[in-house]
Amino acid sequence: MNITNLHKETAPVTEHAADNPGGMLPRARVQIRDIEIGGDRFVVIAGPCAIESETQIAETASLVSAHGAQVLRGGAFKARTSPYTFQGLGLEGVRLMRAAADHIGMPMITEVLSERDVESMEPFVDAFQVGSRNMDNTALLKMLGDVRKPILLKRGFAATIKEWLLAAEYIIVGGNEQVVLCERGIRTFSNETRFTLDLAGALFARQETQLPVVIDPSHATGNPRLIPSLAAATLAAGLDGLMVEVHPDPAQALSDGEQALPPDLFREMMELLSRLAPATGRFLHA
Ligand code: PEP
Ligand code: MN
Repeated sequence: MNITNLHKETAPVTEHAADNPGGMLPRARVQIRDIEIGGDRFVVIAGPCAIESETQIAETASLVSAHGAQVLRGGAFKARTSPYTFQGLGLEGVRLMRAAADHIGMPMITEVLSERDVESMEPFVDAFQVGSRNMDNTALLKMLGDVRKPILLKRGFAATIKEWLLAAEYIIVGGNEQVVLCERGIRTFSNETRFTLDLAGALFARQETQLPVVIDPSHATGNPRLIPSLAAATLAAGLDGLMVEVHPDPAQALSDGEQALPPDLFREMMELLSRLAPATGRFLHA
């Protein structure tokens, strides 16, 4: 697959768009089980920051599914800033999430932190997430080039677009073309939001590659009140979907509770997207 041509170090990053008069390359479609990302459907990936218990993941799965999310997310291996905070339930968490996803009939995605865990996680997951802090872990990227499951590659919060796309190429040249890019905010001098959402950068990445691009406004802002509008902006911008954190009771969450969408705000966001989708030529529900 012709992804970015960035491996030709002499070629400017923009050469690709110039080669394609329409400005857009033919789109790659990535399948997370029966859910296609990169087509006319705007895909919403939703779930808790971390899988905390059997009840919490089951409750969140049914809540996000009831409001129209198509893929369940949740972390079992957590890359926390502090080693003294909840680190996730590990493989047991992955199993609990698999059961919750199967119960509701949803595909699921979870983050793989280390090469060490790829093999044990693979039978349970529908897609792997590579977190922002691991974007340039080339050993992990190479290993994921060998698996036959889709990879959602988050942008490192201090990575340039070019570094992000080259990280994607590590997976692709390894033989796995099922890559979705996820912009999740970058570090800037602005600290009113947790990170700074680089919407233009996400659009640029989509124009310069064939890969689907989704936005994670939860980590980008750290502020649930900003999320429904940014979700609408993502849809209006023609990007491929969203990843958002939702918790049935954010005040009780073991990680990232302050940025989790409570059920009513998640419902509000989904209603807003449903109203907007027809005007953008996209759809949410099959
Ligand atoms: C996450 O999605 O759970 C996460 C840890 O995000 P990021 O890697 O973008 O910080
Ligand atoms: Mn989180």
